[in-house]
Amino acid sequence: SRKFFVGGNWKMNGDKKSLGELIQTLNTAKLDANVEVVCGSPAIYLDFVRSKMDAKLGVAAQNCYKVAKGAFTGEISPAMIKDVGVNWVILGHSERRHVFGENDELIGQKTAHALENGLSVIACIGEKLDEREAGITEKVVFAQTKVIADNVKDWSKVVLAYEPVWAIGTGKTASPAQAQEVHDKLRAWVKTNVSEAVANSVRIIYGGSVTGSTCKELASQKDVDGFLVGGASLKAEFVEIIMPTS
Ligand code: 13P
Repeated sequence: SRKFFVGGNWKMNGDKKSLGELIQTLNTAKLDANVEVVCGSPAIYLDFVRSKMDAKLGVAAQNCYKVAKGAFTGEISPAMIKDVGVNWVILGHSERRHVFGENDELIGQKTAHALENGLSVIACIGEKLDEREAGITEKVVFAQTKVIADNVKDWSKVVLAYEPVWAIGTGKTASPAQAQEVHDKLRAWVKTNVSEAVANSVRIIYGGSVTGSTCKELASQKDVDGFLVGGASLKAEFVEIIMPTS
């Protein structure tokens, strides 16, 4: 069975004081050992966060570049992320795609390089509202997933995050049925295009306005294996989301 996975994506929020307090809350909370927790920190605080966060909690960068080093002003590499003790990276987030113009090809290259350099990857996919309304949700998320899959050798290092863009930061959570429908189709896609074993083992997590009050019903869906939480991951409420099955 798949270990429930709850990621926090702090995005460009927090400072040493507030993140230090949040880490203190997480470190001292009685968290369910059956839930894997990974917090995505702004790059500048990765070292600080990793040094303060309890070892049982994972830390993720929110992005990285596709090569190890060089003349790439402003970028960070998987090697640097590993160097400060951080083992995860979030790639392909909708804000990277739609605010910063990252395309599938770049996200695929980043995925390959991050995995080759020992990072685990939270790979994000998701359709925009106009795409859902045009009835092409499946087509969009399958195409995004294919580019990621083409760059993965070891699926034990990958979590797939389905984040419908219309649900991110809008307070409009996908209904449990809407999330389950896409997760089920994604798992079927993985079964057909990767393998049955990977389809059974890969965690497919949901993101988009997850809160303490919406998480339980979402978590009860057969193919929802966890969450990627934005806004609520900056609050003590995140602790409730880490224990949705209890
Ligand atoms: P919100 O939970 O704030 O909607 O953000 C979701 C998200 O983008 C997580 O990566």
